[in-house]
Amino acid sequence: MSALRTVEEQLSEVLAAVRPLGTQTLAVPDALGATLRADVHAAVDIPVFANSAMDGFAVRGADVEGATAAHPVHLRVVADLPAGTDADPALGPGEAARIMTGAPVPTAADTVVPFEATAGGLADSLVTVVVQQAPAATGAHVRRAGDDVRTGEVIIETGSLLGPFQVSAAAAAGVAEVVVSHRPRVAVISTGSELVPAGSPLRRGQIPESNSVLLAGMVVAAGAEVVARLSVDDEGHALRDALARVAADAAPPDVVVFSGGVSAGAFEVVRIELAGTMSFTKVAMQPGKPQGFGVLPGGTLLFGLPGNPVSAAVSFEVFVRPALLALQGRAQLHRPTLRVAAGTGWRTPPGRRQYLPAVVETGPGGLTVRPATGGGSGSHLAGGLARAHALAVVPAETDAVAAGDDVDVMLLEGWGA
Ligand code: AMP
Ligand code: MG
Repeated sequence: MSALRTVEEQLSEVLAAVRPLGTQTLAVPDALGATLRADVHAAVDIPVFANSAMDGFAVRGADVEGATAAHPVHLRVVADLPAGTDADPALGPGEAARIMTGAPVPTAADTVVPFEATAGGLADSLVTVVVQQAPAATGAHVRRAGDDVRTGEVIIETGSLLGPFQVSAAAAAGVAEVVVSHRPRVAVISTGSELVPAGSPLRRGQIPESNSVLLAGMVVAAGAEVVARLSVDDEGHALRDALARVAADAAPPDVVVFSGGVSAGAFEVVRIELAGTMSFTKVAMQPGKPQGFGVLPGGTLLFGLPGNPVSAAVSFEVFVRPALLALQGRAQLHRPTLRVAAGTGWRTPPGRRQYLPAVVETGPGGLTVRPATGGGSGSHLAGGLARAHALAVVPAETDAVAAGDDVDVMLLEGWGA
């Protein structure tokens, strides 16, 4: 067992080789999914100006302080303010302006009375308004300028992923362009003489190739771009040719991910052909024990993942995804883990950390986690991956998980979908 490296040792070798990619300036809508590389400062306040939170009437608070149904206050309506208006009507004592949500509150007003607090509501609201209920306080239903964000304030920090909420916040703060990372360019190369494209007839010994689809999908989910997706046999020439071709590209990939051919068998093409370029190690994890990693002279990172589909998925999650995020300058390289009660028990390998494709369910007692495949944790259970949207992470020291035990869980893309 002592011959095995820890996950942390392997990952620190990988991350030590990462040089963050260059940056580019993109229009905010085009930056969705990119990693921010310079803080975003608000260009305007949010709200930009004092505006109404309700449809109703802009009033002078003092005028309506005592209004009740028994003693309503009558105000003269002197203006009508839709959203988008630039009008700033003067309001004398006893006067009000009809105002719609989002319209600027007149400088002379300090409070909005919603239609609901008036006798007539929207109907008949352009001549006189009868206020039947005093506002809770002066300033009620007015959204003040800068309440949320002040001009110049940092609203999104460098290293953040720009999701829909973040790009919309940037737009709301009047920001047109952001500085983001270039996306890592990734080539995915599957190896195996048994592999044929999915859907092709299968002669004895052949299986559908699925890892390149898996890994390309995980590349995209990590904010990177797939520049090549290839499948080569175990003879050696095809692998050498494929690598030479992608490396000779005018813009060589930042990362090449190989699957298969790294373990202890007789035809381990990645291990044999790239022996001088990559180092091959055994990591104390299950699945994913055999791992290859190396760096080409030009800086391209090479990952040699084991070919079993579950092993490839877990290895990508544990080693390749953090590297892709680090290349983009992401502040947070690791998924947060949740402690979730096991809904059922399962076996774990001695001396190796287990990453089990799992299902996290909401039950009456809260979240529970169980293996995604009835057949246990086998790394060949490619179909069971379709049910998984999480990885249960069980420490090397743990021999078995019993129902009710607390387990660390990483939620993956698609959880809850
Ligand atoms: P290897 O790591 O090359 O020894 O492959 C381990 C197992 O994973 C074998 O059963 C392979 O057939 C299977 N496998 C390898 N590569 C792929 C792939 N690209 N798609 C589907 N299964 C694969
Ligand atoms: Mg193979």
